[in-house]
This record gives sequence, structure tokens and C-alpha cells, in this order.
Amino acid sequence: MRLSKMYIRTLREVPSEAEIPSHIWLLRAGMIRRLVSGVYGFMPLGFRSVRKIEEIIREEMDAKGGQEIHMSALQPAELWQESGRWYAYGPELWRLKDRNEREFCLGPTHEEIFTDIVRNEVSSYRQLPLNLYQIQTKYRDEKRPRFGLMRSREFVMKDAYSFDRDREGLDASYHDMYDAYERIFKRCGLVFRAVEADTGAIGGSASHEFTALSEVGESEIAYCDSCDMAATTERAVCIDDDPSTEAELPMEKVVTPGTKTIEEVAGFLNVDATKTIKALLFKVYGETEDVFEYVAAFIRGDRELNMTKLINALGIPEHAIEFADENAMAEVTGAVGGFTGPVGLHDCKIVVDSELVGQKNLVAGACEKDHHIINVNYDRDYKGDIVTDLKLIKAGDRCPVCGAPVKLARGIEVGQVFKLGTKYSKSMGAYYKDENMEDQLIVMGCYGIGVTRTLAAVVEQHHDENGIIWPVSVAPYHAIVTIVTSGDETQEALAEAIYQELLKAGVEALLDDRKERAGVKFKDADVLGIPVRITVGKKAAEGVVEYKLRKDPTHSELSAQDAAAQAIAYIASELNR
Ligand code: ATP
Ligand code: MG
Repeated sequence: MRLSKMYIRTLREVPSEAEIPSHIWLLRAGMIRRLVSGVYGFMPLGFRSVRKIEEIIREEMDAKGGQEIHMSALQPAELWQESGRWYAYGPELWRLKDRNEREFCLGPTHEEIFTDIVRNEVSSYRQLPLNLYQIQTKYRDEKRPRFGLMRSREFVMKDAYSFDRDREGLDASYHDMYDAYERIFKRCGLVFRAVEADTGAIGGSASHEFTALSEVGESEIAYCDSCDMAATTERAVCIDDDPSTEAELPMEKVVTPGTKTIEEVAGFLNVDATKTIKALLFKVYGETEDVFEYVAAFIRGDRELNMTKLINALGIPEHAIEFADENAMAEVTGAVGGFTGPVGLHDCKIVVDSELVGQKNLVAGACEKDHHIINVNYDRDYKGDIVTDLKLIKAGDRCPVCGAPVKLARGIEVGQVFKLGTKYSKSMGAYYKDENMEDQLIVMGCYGIGVTRTLAAVVEQHHDENGIIWPVSVAPYHAIVTIVTSGDETQEALAEAIYQELLKAGVEALLDDRKERAGVKFKDADVLGIPVRITVGKKAAEGVVEYKLRKDPTHSELSAQDAAAQAIAYIASELNR
């Protein structure tokens, strides 16, 4: 493609809406444009890279026996009501009505639709196993759309669904998809980790997230160097501190004026935060807003609450819980803002972190202004309606598998795989007949990749202060031939010859034949991040050009033929890796 003819506009300034490198560079390179918050369009170069990622995904999915279909984004509410997710998915589900007041949503994911198709088409064990996938636009009304393609409200996802006869079949399908995902992300040039994950709104029994390592990522993972434990911090199991051997002392109410935080009360009473109990208070809604209950969660004062674990313990969707209004809660339960403890609380569900059970003589709020109670002990003084691990893992905590100190890292969730089991086949009635003509539930898995988020993750891992540095596999074009002095016939002729040579060899090449100053062309070539750059300048008369890889700081002078040959060989070797 000749740049003079190409629909493209690069930006000199950092657009004010962009905070992180991938967002900045995708905008500056003219690859994407924002329509409204969380909604982006793809310009020619951006769309080419999206299609490259899609092609990699297709090849790897097909290699595992996946079959591509394409379902509608528009989905009738009835299917979501059948699965129970019309309620459970909450406000992230983009709901709409047709002219006859019939309800629909724009699909954030397609479990219901694929289950519906298969329950209507599959009747016999002979039709299983089956792996169906699509690459399709998804809609989620995200609370905080941000970072461009990273968390958008409209995005492209590859979603696959496996249908098996039994658990063993699902294990094999899951393994295949896990394997395909590793190949896909490697081919996209990503440094990533597959980690155990929570199943969230999708549900099911087991799950892994594929996390591209990046400081700007919104996922946090905990991992261990001494064993292969790796999990999202949401998911990571925490080891309780060893139980205390202290004898239980009598409870005693003490005056603690104005000590609302753990730091304040620990400081005032001169005890360690590990000797205190922290209270977190919530309001939890039922399916309608007017039905709710209060929940108090208690953890040791030095710990942080893991919301995902609390939500799972309560068996509620994420959107059904919010922090309680202190005054409203006080009237019903006796809680007192800053001074709430488990002793004396009533009309409220009490969820206790398992670690507190073995700890002795702790300080807790007295449910009375400016008062705490010392020597509070589990069982003797209070009990939990639910006792479970509620802790958020932190760096240095003991690894749940081997006990060594865990480390934390940040990353971008680019894909997730789930063992759904019979969650959807049961609620939606998807059966097959076995050899004995008996009805059996289909056992399912589902597997998602954020295609457009993957594009952003690639830029996040491959850029410098001048722009993008595309891996050849997802670069919009492989090579760019730049004419330094526009109007110089010798340069133009040599550049054209190299350009034609590259095209003939199947290289996706750009020719920068714009009537622009050399500085502008060089800057743009850096911003665009095309992997191979051949610059035709003053030495064109001798048939000599500059050959440079975007990722390397140095260039070499080569004959035009050698430069073309080197480009062709380099690109072929990168694509075959
Ligand atoms: P997150 O935790 O980041 O909100 P999720 O776990 O809800 O994501 P899944 O339901 O697992 O997402 O969707 C499959 C994939 O789709 C994700 O791994 C991610 O790559 C991509 N994805 C999800 N939400 C978005 C979004 N708002 N914008 C872009 N990509 C997304
Ligand atoms: Mg996910």
C-alpha cells in the first residue's frame, strides 16, 4: 500500500483521553478512534491487526477441531431468564426492548445461545463431543470503561463452547483449549502466565485465566517460585496464621475515644494490628431492591477483605452487594460506625474469616461509640453464620501449596477458560441420549479470548518512547520502504523497485511516498511500529539503502537487493516461529 493513498492520520500530541501506553499509541498511530466512552472504531491499520489476531485464533481453534459459527449479538431475554442470569448478570448486561416491549440484551457472552442451539440440534451421544466457536462483538455496560480497548463497552471476543458426554470428555476438551490458548498468545508475541481463577458470573467448577504480564494490568496474580502455584489474587487461597496458645482471658469493655480505624485503636491500646478484629459492613439485596439483609464480615485487623471470597461465601452476584449506610444499619443491627464488633451485633448475617477462630484475646469494637472490648474470643463470645477464608493474599504470605513466601505481579486478563460442567445444560435442559437411549446432561466448557484487549496487551508489551514495536505476527504491515527526498527520481525509482520486490515475495509492504519532510516520515514509521524499515536516501544513486528493524537501535547499509532479501528472510522466519 502506498501511504500517499492510505486513509490514515497519525497524531503528534497525546490525546487527553489516554492514560496508558497502548491507548496512547493506538490512538496516535491512527489505528483506533473513540466514538463515545468505551466504544471504539478501527481504522485501516488497526483493523488489519485485529484480523491478524483473529486469524491466529482461527488456525489454533481449527487445529483442535473447533468449528466456527456466528451467532447474533441480539439475544432474547427468555434464554437468560431460563439460565437465571437475567437477574444474576446485573447492570453490566445491556438490556433493550423492541417496539412490542419484548425484552432483549446485547450479548456480553453466549453460553445461553450456544446451549440453546445445541439442545435443539444434538440428540445422540454420536454427535458428541463438539466444539463450536465464534469471533463476534460483545457488549458490556462496564461500570468503569477505561484504557481504550482494555476495558471497553463494545469489544471483539472469541468465545468457544465445548459439549461432551461426561467429565472425562470435558477434561480433554479443556486441556485442548488450554493448549490452544498457550499457542495463540505465544504467537501474538505475549509474555503471559496461565493462573487459576475465580469463575465469576460465568460459573462452573474450575477456571484458568491467561494473564499478559504488565504493570498497567487490572488483574493481580499471586505466584510461588518454589512450586507452580499461580492464581489470581481473587482466587488465591490464604493460609490461616497458626492458632494462638494463649489462655482465654475475661472480656472487658474499655474506653477508646475517637479510635475509628484499626491503626488508631491498636495505637491507643498499644497492641499489634494482628491482635484486633476488623469489621466490614454491607447491605445485600435480594432479587428486588426492597428485599435486603445486612452482612458484617470480620477479619484480623492486619488483613484485607477479599470481596470475591465474600461474594462466593454468600452465594450472591457481584452487583447485589454494597457498603452499608452506617446509620441505617445501626438502627437495625446495633452496629456503630467505627466501633462495630461481633459481640452485641444482631439482625445481621455474620461472616467470619477462618483465621479468627484460632486467635485469642483480640480487640473488637463494642457496638458502642468510643468503646472497644478486649479479650474477645471466637466461640465463647461470638459465632459466625459462615466461617471461611475471606482474606486477600499479599506478597510474602505463605504459599497455600508449599508454604514458601508468595510473590505478586500485575497483568492483563487476555483469556479465560471455564469448566462449566452441567450448570447451563441443567438449567436450560440440554440432554443427549446415551447408548441405552437414556437422557444424560451434556457436560460443557467455555473459553473466551478478548481479541481487541489482546491487541492492546501486545502494544503494552511492545512499545518504546517513540511508538509501537509490532511483533511480525500481528503487525498491520511487515515492512515499510521510505523515500527520504520526495521528488528525487533516483530515490523514488529505487524505492519502487524494492517495494515491488517485497510485494512479489508476499511481504505486506508499505511505501512512504508522501510529499512530506523526511523527519515526519521517520517519526510516523516509529509511531506505526512496522517491524522492518528500508530507507532510500542519498546513496540511492549507488544502489545503497538503510535497513533497520524497528526493535533494534542500529541500522545497516545494504545494497537494495540485499535489503529486500534480508527483509523477506527475516519476516518469513518470524512468521514460522
Ligand atoms: P474482566 O475481569 O476483565 O472484567 P471478565 O473475566 O469479566 O473480564 P470474561 O467473561 O472471562 O471477562 O470474558 C472473556 C475475555 O473477554 C476476557 O478474558 C477479556 O480478555 C475479554 N474482555 C472482557 N471484558 C472486556 C472488556 N470490557 N473490554 C475488552 N475485553 C474484555
Ligand atoms: Mg474472565
